[in-house]
Amino acid sequence: MTLVLGIEGTAWNLSAAVVDENDVIDEVSHTYRPSTGGIHPREAAQHHAQHAGQVIRKLFENIADKGISSRDLDAIAFSQGPGLGACLRTVGTAARALSLSLEKPLVGVNHCLAHVEVGRWKTPAEDPVVLYVSGGNSQVLAYRNGKYRIFGETLDIGIGNALDKFARNAGLSHPGGPKVEEFAQAAASYVPLPYVVKGMDFSFSGLSTAATDALSHSSIEDVCYSFQENAFAMLVEVTERALAHTGKNEVLLAGGVGANMRLRQMLKTMCEDRDASFYVPEKRFMGDNGSMIAYLGLLMYKSGNTIEVANSHVDPDFRPDSVEVTWL
Ligand code: AMP
Ligand code: MG
Repeated sequence: MTLVLGIEGTAWNLSAAVVDENDVIDEVSHTYRPSTGGIHPREAAQHHAQHAGQVIRKLFENIADKGISSRDLDAIAFSQGPGLGACLRTVGTAARALSLSLEKPLVGVNHCLAHVEVGRWKTPAEDPVVLYVSGGNSQVLAYRNGKYRIFGETLDIGIGNALDKFARNAGLSHPGGPKVEEFAQAAASYVPLPYVVKGMDFSFSGLSTAATDALSHSSIEDVCYSFQENAFAMLVEVTERALAHTGKNEVLLAGGVGANMRLRQMLKTMCEDRDASFYVPEKRFMGDNGSMIAYLGLLMYKSGNTIEVANSHVDPDFRPDSVEVTWL
């Protein structure tokens, strides 16, 4: 068995886990919760710096209870990007320190691809079109010729940030996504809002602003509902076209916004119409988590994809289609 420790900390969640080929051995997380407004990058990084030692110590205690010592680890993996620069640097520092002190190889993991691979690990999906929707990122990805290609992506902000920003303007606390979902369920009617798909890409910033403006003449329930209908239809449209284009017959949903039941329902309907299978991992693997970093770290380690500490700088704009897939 291979054992890899992985650390996630690109944004709001500091999370470390140890996995083997089959399962998560243990995961310990400490979540940053902004006192007001949304995520403040510097505060989030300070949170991660303050709690990294405690999270790693607790993880080592937990695996020790299961008979595993730090000596048994094969590699240390970390989220190298994309994400908030200050957060990435903090977690990178923790991972380098562990790698050097334990004398274990270091693996730099692309956060988006970790969402994809944990979904392939924890669902029956084999070669899916992936809709990855989170706070900072929104992408439609699929594997072709040695890389995960991006078939469509947001031209501005991630869908999660768009929902959170609107919710904040509506006086709701962070994270807004789940609250928007709840209000939408009590809606009476649809309010016209922008629907922006350009080629295979989508944009959410104008939709978020227009939804905020619509609050002046429509109920919050109706605006939340209409926001969701438009945003999710945009995502489903591009996912469907990626399915048609690639000829694949599976869709995998990834990222924190994937918790949304209306989005799932729309994707499921589209997949049924096309005779495609639709897969959603357990909720704990959808939002940012250490297990997904550890798992892709394990796949990369086993395929010889490690890095020297000297070359382990983080990249806030790390694109998944720049990664040579060595593990498939
Ligand atoms: P991630 O960055 O992948 O951890 O996902 C975080 C994002 O998911 C935040 O923007 C949340 O508002 C969003 N989110 C979480 N649950 C839901 C939900 N039920 N509906 C919509 N968005 C959600
Ligand atoms: Mg994420």
